[in-house]
Amino acid sequence: MSEPLGLYLHVPFCRAKCRYCDFFSAPGDEAAQEAYTGALIRRIRALRGLAGLRPFSSVYFGGGTPTVLGRARLVRLLDAAADVGLAPDAEVSVEANPATVDRAGLAALRRAGFNRLSVGAQSFDPGELALLGRLHGPDDVRRTVSDAFAAGFENVSLDLMLGLPGQTVPRVLSSVRAALETGVSHLSAYCLKLEPGTPMARDYPDGRGLPDGDETADAYLAAAAALSGAGLEQYEISNFARPGRACRHNLLYWTLGEYVGLGPSAHSDFGGRRFYFPRGAGFSAPFSSVFDGTLPEETDREEERVMLSLRTAAGLDLSSLAPETARAAAEVLSAVAARGLAAPTETGFRLTPEGFLVSNQIISEILLKGMS
Ligand code: SF4
Repeated sequence: MSEPLGLYLHVPFCRAKCRYCDFFSAPGDEAAQEAYTGALIRRIRALRGLAGLRPFSSVYFGGGTPTVLGRARLVRLLDAAADVGLAPDAEVSVEANPATVDRAGLAALRRAGFNRLSVGAQSFDPGELALLGRLHGPDDVRRTVSDAFAAGFENVSLDLMLGLPGQTVPRVLSSVRAALETGVSHLSAYCLKLEPGTPMARDYPDGRGLPDGDETADAYLAAAAALSGAGLEQYEISNFARPGRACRHNLLYWTLGEYVGLGPSAHSDFGGRRFYFPRGAGFSAPFSSVFDGTLPEETDREEERVMLSLRTAAGLDLSSLAPETARAAAEVLSAVAARGLAAPTETGFRLTPEGFLVSNQIISEILLKGMS
């Protein structure tokens, strides 16, 4: 069996800008969406014949809000990917915002081969949703998930945000419970990060007015415990899934697998090279090779392996590291395991939920020790 290969397709359109968001996205009229779809299809087709290319084991439509493109364009894009090569059991995910797609649209996507839906809920609290500048309410989330199930999607995920202004543990748990009641098989729980230049960063300078680190940590641990208690395994620092429902595409990122990303701000790790398309204009211009317009991304694989592996429940395989890094990792992780922040595995160590909270410090310590 060939090694997995993911295809990420970026859709840079949103109906409106959320108040915390600095992703590359803009409102786009029909003409802009059509032109972009055409450009993306040309790039997908240009992948044909690339050395090392094999059928995609996953395709992920991210954004932006991919469903803003409309079902017909999404299906054309997936057809183009399938023409290049799609494994028979490929995971095909599409991100959707609540109320940007209806039951008929979802059924059309399901028939076309999409089999995983990731819904940007963020919260079930109307006040929190308004504060984030989201266009939907809690009932829109419930309706989109139930429409997805009715349309034949079995693999549905919701995103929730932690660390929001005024958010308490009971309020987080109430959103978690509401999410579980929808019956989704996957949940992502991310902490709000204030991005410079966004309206929320201006409203809460230096994070003043947001829950402090301890309050957010309590909320994270409470959410993690509630999700585990409901049978969703934590397979990554921010991701929880019912057995067999972990996102295979995202796992490629955390396990240093290969993926090709097309679209402004999309990153690739393919053929031993890391590169990305910069944000902004240029992606749609004529090109002579599929990766025209990309920039190289400088990374240290060893560092990346430590950082990404320790995000996952599978943890860090010490035999995958250079001897000096493996020694440093074993020393640091044994010490933090004694404090309940890590646990041994067959091949090394993984972090516990408490350890995930301080993963940056643990990783820095390993890397510094490995260099000394
Ligand atoms: S829907 Fe997502 S990508 Fe679009 S503005 Fe909101 S957070 Fe950003």
